[in-house]
Amino acid sequence: MADKVQKPGYLISVFDNRCPRCRLGKIFKHRNAYNLKQTVVMNEKCPVCGQPTDLETGFYYGTGYVSYALAVAISGVTFVAWLLTIGFSLEDSRFFWWMGINAVLLVVIQPLIMRLSRSLWLSWFVKYDPDWKKHEVAESERLVKEHQNNW
Ligand SMILES: [Zn+2]
Repeated sequence: MADKVQKPGYLISVFDNRCPRCRLGKIFKHRNAYNLKQTVVMNEKCPVCGQPTDLETGFYYGTGYVSYALAVAISGVTFVAWLLTIGFSLEDSRFFWWMGINAVLLVVIQPLIMRLSRSLWLSWFVKYDPDWKKHEVAESERLVKEHQNNW
């Protein structure tokens, strides 16, 4: 039983930007998401299990929709929180304060949203493999080197 490693949870590994295959390796090269030039610079392969992080040309194109959905979800959460704590009224500008603060919040956490979108996206295409040490990694075949990081 000693060699039985505890299975890392899906949500924790996604929020912590870990490789979906082994849930251990970091998919981004740099730890700090606020180093804006390098926010979405990724390791070509998972440093732990070797899973490629770029599966095909334009692979991360769809993350635009994911981050949009995340932004809408976050706005929904702040809306409800505002409603329950401060409330809205037609007689003052509380609604516009919420809009302004929510907009600033979305801009401030944008780097985190971008990373989370990529983590989620990759996790929908790469399955978790608890026995990743024993299985061979699936290499990406439909890559065009010159078009990498053009998206
Ligand atoms: Zn991995």
